[in-house]
Parts: sequence; structure tokens; C-alpha cells
Amino acid sequence: MGLIVRSSLIHAAGCYTTTPIAKGTRVVEYTGPIIDKEEADRRYEHKPITYLFGIGDGSKVIDGHGIAMFINHSCDANCETEEIDGRVWIMAIRDIAAGEELCYDYCLYDGDDEEAPCNCGAKKCRGSMYSAEELRRRKRLALKRAKEQAAAKKKKAKSATKKKQARTDSPRKDPPKPTKASGKKTLQRKTSPASPQRKSTAPPKSAKKARGK
Ligand SMILES: [Zn+2]
Repeated sequence: MGLIVRSSLIHAAGCYTTTPIAKGTRVVEYTGPIIDKEEADRRYEHKPITYLFGIGDGSKVIDGHGIAMFINHSCDANCETEEIDGRVWIMAIRDIAAGEELCYDYCLYDGDDEEAPCNCGAKKCRGSMYSAEELRRRKRLALKRAKEQAAAKKKKAKSATKKKQARTDSPRKDPPKPTKASGKKTLQRKTSPASPQRKSTAPPKSAKKARGK
């Protein structure tokens, strides 16, 4: 198969095919050393771009090294990824013409506060490279945080009034600065069954199998 890397409208460099690819073809393997997730978090804590691909139950990742790592994300992709015996393959989910850019849905997860905006340009672009499920999880989390913050504010306001009433002469003390435990993790991709809603934070061995396909 003739795969080449050149500049892409989606993002930086992309992977293109110079020959037509039939639907169902195993196009290329996502290669690279397999490392523990913790090791990946350590390695890439301060790197904005990673090429990690979560496999199995997510405790291991492939640290992408090879042509497949150049394949961009799209919300309307022509490929998907499949994990077969611990190896990740990029599969064509439709016929692909010569000259087309290959893409698959990254279904990112595990990115903490990082944003992963999508510029794929698809009609149904969900605006993010996170999986639909991860986006829902993040929304829930944000809502929870906002509620907690509102509650804390209320409590603070209450106790402040109380304090004022109790002893107006006490020296003013600055409130402790909130320490944010930023367990920043690196973004990871995950294998993707045909539906646009793919993997979870604790994905089953084979998402495809789990979906009963
Ligand atoms: Zn998109």
C-alpha cells in the first residue's frame, strides 16, 4: 500500500494513500513501543502533543512511532482502529480513493483539563477529539465542580458574616490559596468500533466485542 505523509488541512501533517483502498482492508499497524500508562504520563506530562494509543484495559499504551501516528482525527472518518491480539490496526471502513487523506476517530480520553478542539470540517463534527462518552463525563464533572464551588462560596459568605458579627477586631487573614492537585495526564487514543461513540475510560478488552458485533 502506498502511504505517504504530507501537509494536511486537518492538522499539520497527515497520512495519504496513493492507491485506492477497499473497505475492510487492514491498512497499517499503529506501531511503537508499548509502555505503562504511568510511564507515559511521566514522559509526556508537559508535552502538548502525544502519540499515545491506549490498549487493553488502558493500563498500557503504544507510544506511537511509525507512519500511523501521522493519521489525523476526523469525526467523519474513512478508517477505524481495531485491537487484535494486543496490536492496533487502522482499518478502512469505506472504499478510499487514491489521494485521500486517511483519518479515524481518536476518541480521546484521560486528558483532564486539556481541550482537544477538532478542526476536521465534517458536517457532523462534534467540535472535539474527545469521544462522545468522554465529553459527557467531562460535562458532568464540570457541572459537579460548579455546584461545589457555588456551595463553598455560600458557606464562605455565611461564615464571613458570622465572623464579622462575632469579633470585628480580629486581624484579617488571607484565605489559603486553593492548591490544585493537577494530576495532569496525557491524552490517549483508543480503539474505535464503528459507532462514533467509542471507548470509555475503562474500556473493555475489545470494544467491538463488548458491543456484541
Ligand atoms: Zn471533528
